[in-house]
Amino acid sequence: MSDLAERKMRFLYALRSKGVTDPRVLSAMERIDRGHFVKGLFAERAYEDTPLPIACGQTISQPSVVGLMTQALDAGPRDKVLEIGTGSGYQAAILSQIARRVYTVERHRRLVREAQEVFEALDLANITALSADGSRGLPEQAPFDRILVTAAAEDPPGPLLAQLREGGIMVLPVGQSDAVQSLIKVTRTADGYDYEELRPVRFVPLVEGLGQD
Ligand code: SAH
Repeated sequence: MSDLAERKMRFLYALRSKGVTDPRVLSAMERIDRGHFVKGLFAERAYEDTPLPIACGQTISQPSVVGLMTQALDAGPRDKVLEIGTGSGYQAAILSQIARRVYTVERHRRLVREAQEVFEALDLANITALSADGSRGLPEQAPFDRILVTAAAEDPPGPLLAQLREGGIMVLPVGQSDAVQSLIKVTRTADGYDYEELRPVRFVPLVEGLGQD
């Protein structure tokens, strides 16, 4: 077996051993090569189960956390999904294999541009990446069946709760940016919202307004 094939096999094994068992998620993560989303010095570590630095001082999440969040989101082929925090574009690419349509919003224009180049190269035509302040959601495309936030807010942002359709699910990290945060799953019901705490996580903070670059 080639080196690369062996590293990919270990990558999938690590996901399973950390609780990523949903076949739709595993097959999406098998198809989308994380190596396309990690550049420069860190590229050779793309198949390790670890977060890595990307441009603009941000990070691409740990693969097992991407897997567990995608699994908790429980999206299907008819769903329109909103992701807040495009970063490298890796999470959006995984979602594009599972959902009908993915909108992803990022406050750094440079990250949006670089992610768009990878989406084009991989022919992922059902993703739309936009530079905007994601804490306001994307009102022009609301409501969403699923919302995934990959930066931590102190509380679930009101506009995102409002843009979730009834029966919809939102997965997001909440808590102070310099402490351990909780990953929570919010389900919108006929008369409100149900909250479930999933696991401790650590994400960069959700910052209001557009970035400098
Ligand atoms: N999902 C990404 C990882 C994201 S890291 C991936 O797969 O690579 C979190 C990202 O959220 C960072 O790129 C950061 O710039 C972005 N972010 C933080 N606050 C934001 C906001 N208000 N609106 C949009 N993006 C935001």
